[in-house]
Amino acid sequence: MKTEDGIEAFVATRRDVRGKWHRVGSAPCEECGCPYDYSLDDPGVFWEAGANTSGDCLDEMCDCHVMPVLGLPVKIHFASAS
Ligand SMILES: [Zn+2]
Ligand SMILES: [Zn+2]
Repeated sequence: MKTEDGIEAFVATRRDVRGKWHRVGSAPCEECGCPYDYSLDDPGVFWEAGANTSGDCLDEMCDCHVMPVLGLPVKIHFASAS
């Protein structure tokens, strides 16, 4: 599968909370180093590591584990739950 950039890539897709599919990339969490996914086509939508800690995790109590954002716009991460 090729992206529109012509890059042969391991293109992963994930669904957000609304059921919309996104192409996703992966990056390490700045706080603890665990890999999380982010949407390539909708910046701000993340799927954080959650229970998936890497062996190198430096902070298992990092927000990305204890308050993961799973397919949500990241701003909801900081809003009080309602
Ligand atoms: Zn983290
Ligand atoms: Zn971690």
